[in-house]
Amino acid sequence: MTHPNIVQKSVRPEHRWRLGLVAAVATLLGVGGAAAQSPGPASPTASPTASTSPIAGVDAALVNDIVIGSRILAEFGVLDGFGHVSARHPTDPNRFLMARSLAPALVTSDDIMEFDLDGNPVDARGRAVFLERFIHGEVYRARPDVRSVVHTHSPGVIPFSVSKVPLQAMYHNPAFLAAGVPIFDIRDKFGATDMLVRNAAIGKALADSLGDKSVVLMRGHGDVTVGPSIKAAVFRAYYTDVNARLQSQAIALGGDPTYLTVEEGAKADATNLVVIDRIWNLWSMKIVGASR
Ligand code: MN
Repeated sequence: MTHPNIVQKSVRPEHRWRLGLVAAVATLLGVGGAAAQSPGPASPTASPTASTSPIAGVDAALVNDIVIGSRILAEFGVLDGFGHVSARHPTDPNRFLMARSLAPALVTSDDIMEFDLDGNPVDARGRAVFLERFIHGEVYRARPDVRSVVHTHSPGVIPFSVSKVPLQAMYHNPAFLAAGVPIFDIRDKFGATDMLVRNAAIGKALADSLGDKSVVLMRGHGDVTVGPSIKAAVFRAYYTDVNARLQSQAIALGGDPTYLTVEEGAKADATNLVVIDRIWNLWSMKIVGASR
């Protein structure tokens, strides 16, 4: 590629000539970089996302966001072999979308299935489904405002699920915690169980505990976060875990930590939801190798 400025600089004194060379090299790198920026996987394996949706009537981008959310939470250790991310169906509020029974780090767009709010798969085709899908169906039934649900066993939150010390908002990113964090104890209504939300009745009791909040802790189990989008629910799952770890550190320092007030939390949460694409684009790049 010819560039008149570079030609001019190359005939000037030595320091300008070197600048010209730098510009020429940068131009060459820029051309090469553009070719390398075509959408593709960050790893040599096939991209986990796809341009076509496996579910009729559902945009591929929505399905891909479930994949990105599942994988990024696994990358951060918020999810391990267990836990799941779901989204309400974009046009049928009585349906939701989530992966077949699979470790979150392995989810691809082809693994996303459609369910009714009772947790019945619309078209199972022999695929295994998550035992705890009732968490999602019952939260969507109870909360018309919720468009995405995340369930984790994240290590940071477990101490707060069994402690009398309430989880509180340490800083502005987990501001949604300032509204209050209820704890669901399965034992209250269901006695001694295996701790899992394995039917609709337990799912409904969990949704009742969540109430109008953004997160509910599950005693001896984990948490559920919700939001008006997949991005928001994943953001909240991530920052609930980060906040819990930091709060444990602040308590260990001694003294009496000063937490965000309810009013500060409401204001900061509104701001977070406006700027959420900034961190989502970063996370998306880590998973699919290109910003969206
Ligand atoms: Mn669970």
